[in-house]
Amino acid sequence: MRLTDRAFVRRLLSWYADAARDLPWRRTADPYRIWVAEIMLQQTRVEAVVPYYERFLERYPNAAALAAAPEQELLQAWAGLGYYRRARLLQRAATKIAGEHDGQFPRDYDAIRALDGVGGYTAAAVASIAFDLPFAVLDGNVMRLLTRLANDRRDIAKGETKRALAGRAQELMDAAAPGERGAFNQALMELGATVCTPKSPQCGACPLARDCRGLAQGAADTLPYKSVRPRIRRVELAVAVVRRGGSLLMRQRPQDAAIMPGFWELPSTCGTGGHEAYFASLGVAVGKKIGEFKHSITDRRFRGSIYEAALHRGRPQGHCWISAERLSRLPVTTISRKALRQDMLAGPTQ
Ligand code: SF4
Repeated sequence: MRLTDRAFVRRLLSWYADAARDLPWRRTADPYRIWVAEIMLQQTRVEAVVPYYERFLERYPNAAALAAAPEQELLQAWAGLGYYRRARLLQRAATKIAGEHDGQFPRDYDAIRALDGVGGYTAAAVASIAFDLPFAVLDGNVMRLLTRLANDRRDIAKGETKRALAGRAQELMDAAAPGERGAFNQALMELGATVCTPKSPQCGACPLARDCRGLAQGAADTLPYKSVRPRIRRVELAVAVVRRGGSLLMRQRPQDAAIMPGFWELPSTCGTGGHEAYFASLGVAVGKKIGEFKHSITDRRFRGSIYEAALHRGRPQGHCWISAERLSRLPVTTISRKALRQDMLAGPTQ
């Protein structure tokens, strides 16, 4: 007999009551705290978010405190989580909450969705978890789970498949009773994240295994089907470490830069061939290579070479000497932090 949607919900919730991981944002009913967690989790793994989450909320316990934070301090508090645009949008939304909503987190889906940095997924997550509103979430975990359960081989890169899956998730949500909606969304995501994993799903531990068509057809770990893969671009990067006493030559990225605007970085240029000419135009003479590092930003894979270097004329325009003490208080790009870590491992230079 086919599992009814109500039975699906009950079985999933009963599993979740026993199996849910104890995570800090699951111990609160404060919509502000739930929202901060959802933003942090947008592109960062759960394990990486936990320590940042608690520190961040100690520093900014409510929307008013976040709205009032100096930008540089905020970016520094976010450092390590990556995708810094999220921090800026979070602050913009906090300003809106503090101003337009009198410091009260908005209680309806449309108003939550209207906050900066909040898309449909995050709005549904916050609305259901904080306010028990019946909006289903659809992320990669949920899509994987639903396609496997139904042995659905449609291409999840296509909008029509996503819409169909969103409709199915909403049908299931509609079978959740008041008081169950937040837990239901979290249970779906939790099952996808911890049991119905992309590789080697643990079907033996799955509460839905006896009704899973993908498992019955032996197709569980071949789903979901996705046709489009992002084209990976490889980028060579040269980074110069120029010291004067205890200070480093650095520059601040423009405020309108697409990536990490306002962050500080070491002088650097793309492409190893020709980098000497670029550095020479700054008055920087490049010495020996002292290290390498790798870094990924969305579809780009950077391979960085780090050079010791010296300045043979005045400080180039747009660059500053930054002391180690000041550096520890500034937001620094991830690439420069990686390069500086390698530089420290290479030891003192002549
Ligand atoms: S039985 Fe296996 S494939 Fe099916 S939903 Fe559960 S974990 Fe996923």
